[in-house]
Amino acid sequence: MNTTHISIQGVNKVFRTADKEVVALRDIQLTIPEGQFVCLLGPSGCGKSTLLNAVAGFSLPTSGTIIANGLPVNEPGPDRGMVFQEYALFPWMTVEQNIGFGLEIKGMPAAEIARRVAQLLDMLGLTDFRQRFPKDLSGGMRQRVAIARVLALDSPIMLMDEPFGALDALTRRNLQDELLRIWSELKKTILFVTHSIEEAIYLADRIIVMTYRPGTVKKDLLIDLPRLRDPSAPEFNALKRELGQLVMEEQQRHHHDEMKMAAVD
Ligand code: ADP
Ligand code: MG
Repeated sequence: MNTTHISIQGVNKVFRTADKEVVALRDIQLTIPEGQFVCLLGPSGCGKSTLLNAVAGFSLPTSGTIIANGLPVNEPGPDRGMVFQEYALFPWMTVEQNIGFGLEIKGMPAAEIARRVAQLLDMLGLTDFRQRFPKDLSGGMRQRVAIARVLALDSPIMLMDEPFGALDALTRRNLQDELLRIWSELKKTILFVTHSIEEAIYLADRIIVMTYRPGTVKKDLLIDLPRLRDPSAPEFNALKRELGQLVMEEQQRHHHDEMKMAAVD
């Protein structure tokens, strides 16, 4: 838990369109040790996805450096697996084909793929669903498949962009618990984006609260409550109040911004 796994150094991101410039990230500085579960928390528009996409290598910073797994990030790579909010599954493939697809691309022998896929189906409780197509699965089941697909590649770093945002509360809690179990078993480094304060406190070793435009680090907080955490415990609620205050300040800045823009229109 002490070698650096992701290092984000002086990262800025500016989006330029024909008539304006949006500074989405400003001077982000973060060092994430191996095996840490980090949540990026903040209201919509504060640059969470922008930062995650930069670490993934989908969209590079305007300036600054990101080192992941010891190497500078210039493009997406198999050391960084991404799980999106909307289950990006192939609709024409069954559950097991979806999970095994990345391994086929890598040229892994069929027998080994079958073994790996069987293991993942078991780990995520999908064995009975292995021959179904995504359209015949609930949202929670689809998101399990998306997680299994990323785990199949055995990326040491998992990037998750509001992966449970579209799920009902009960399914969400189940998947949070599954994710915690898998994380403690496989020792992945996880960078997890959420705008839910409760989700962040339930999951994270460390919460990074971001400011609204430009996105900067507003608060870097270690959460040392034992797991599984009880959202009704006083310590949990104290954190919820503290973080709620910080997030609300940024939400208000967002709101003011929108009022100003409406006035100009
Ligand atoms: P979050 O994920 O926290 O909701 P984003 O990272 O999606 O926030 O966006 C941060 C800011 O950057 C927002 O103001 C958004 O409008 C802007 N932005 C994101 N992507 C683009 C893009 N491709 N072009 C222009 N502006 C963008
Ligand atoms: Mg986002």
